[in-house]
Amino acid sequence: MNRAQPNLASVTTINADGSRRFLHPADVQGRFTVLRRITALALLTGYVALPWIPVNGHPAVFLDVAQRRFHLFGLTLATQDLWLAFFLITGLGFSLFYITSFFGRVWCGWTCPYTVFLEHVYRRVERWIDGDAPARRKLEDAPWSATKISKRVLKHGFFLLISAIIAHVFSSYFVSLRQLYAWMHGPPSEHLFAFGVILSLTGSLYFAFSWFREQFCIILCPYGRLQSALTDDNTVNIGYDKTRGEPRGKAGTTDAGDCINCVRCVQVCPTGIDIRNGLQLECIGCAACVDACDTVMQKIGRKPGLVRYDSLNGLNGGPTRFIRGRTIGYSVMALIGLVVFAFSARSVKPMNVTATRMKGAPYFMADGSIRNQFNVQVINKNNAPARFLMELHDAPAVHFNLGTTAIEVPAMGQASPLAVLTLPQLDFHGPTTVTLVVREDKPGGAAIERKLEILGPDTRLQNHDYLSPDHYKK
Ligand code: SF4
Ligand code: SF4
Repeated sequence: MNRAQPNLASVTTINADGSRRFLHPADVQGRFTVLRRITALALLTGYVALPWIPVNGHPAVFLDVAQRRFHLFGLTLATQDLWLAFFLITGLGFSLFYITSFFGRVWCGWTCPYTVFLEHVYRRVERWIDGDAPARRKLEDAPWSATKISKRVLKHGFFLLISAIIAHVFSSYFVSLRQLYAWMHGPPSEHLFAFGVILSLTGSLYFAFSWFREQFCIILCPYGRLQSALTDDNTVNIGYDKTRGEPRGKAGTTDAGDCINCVRCVQVCPTGIDIRNGLQLECIGCAACVDACDTVMQKIGRKPGLVRYDSLNGLNGGPTRFIRGRTIGYSVMALIGLVVFAFSARSVKPMNVTATRMKGAPYFMADGSIRNQFNVQVINKNNAPARFLMELHDAPAVHFNLGTTAIEVPAMGQASPLAVLTLPQLDFHGPTTVTLVVREDKPGGAAIERKLEILGPDTRLQNHDYLSPDHYKK
């Protein structure tokens, strides 16, 4: 099979005829590889554990689609609170821009779930079954035999199993663990839609990680496209020190630079590029080439860092400026988003209250009284049933039908009592705003206020049409 040398004029993973060239990155050892493995292990543990860790009675992260409640580390948001997500997403988005402007695609190479699963789960299984890079290449080129078939069946069986597990873990962020358990133990015919979703998720993951692989980072990921707009010559990326490395030549050759052209940095690259050609869109910043080159330098007795984390300015022998217009701009935007989110989140209550005037006539009149009716909706965001009390403020003459009884609302449920505000007609002197207070029936319980407007007949008409006849005799 043709093993083309990466260049800037073509994509290494695509043959001249447009067919796919499969990569078999070589194994690499080194400090960044160890650190990446530790990071990946911590992240994988986090992905699985988050839906299991309870915070304030809910999973640490649970986007409860069925109940339309979103639980984030103890904060519960109902759909009415989702405006907060704008500030959270803005804050996190600009934080990522900020980090990228400092350290390039460190997110891609170290913490992106796609990379974590591909590099630290699927490729490890592949290495375990098919062997190291030369063995994998040999097996790929070999004709079909009993050994090749059995290895392929075993590998793809594992890939399917892992994909199914990830699909279930992913689903546990959107449906309760109890529900997921029930689905897993019941026949698919009882939950066809959910079964179809998990099946297609499994299929997509299997396709992505067994075949599509680095193509996602190279041609699909939108963040990868943004990279060039977010970085500049002061951004610390992975780079090759041309001044030190060129001209390339065997160790010991007179006038040769430090690069011995062993191509270890190319062999370990998971996207198949040659970093010596400069920073390229395909580079996910995984630092595998740094570890590979450092190992080579150590073997031939030269100092490490020929390929290293450095800015373009640093590689050219100049200083790296960390404080720049773009880093200040991104950090300010990130701070605004996160601070507004944090302050707004403090105002989020364990319940939501809305009060809307009943449809039809804005008010009713009977027996010398004016009656206004409102539909009050109380949503309980707690994981347990709760009682709520209602009071009316700024309304001494108004009788309130709900003022004496507590409203019971089931866990994660809602109640819609009818609030009737009755006012003697003689005490009505025009539209009046009163305050409805709904509070949790417990010491220190949260309270929410809503303004209600009491409407009645025009007071000029009232003087003529509704006052008692005795009034006119005076
Ligand atoms: S060039 Fe180096 S840092 Fe970039 S993807 Fe390849 S191995 Fe990773
Ligand atoms: S690993 Fe280092 S020495 Fe070998 S080709 Fe790459 S840059 Fe040159």
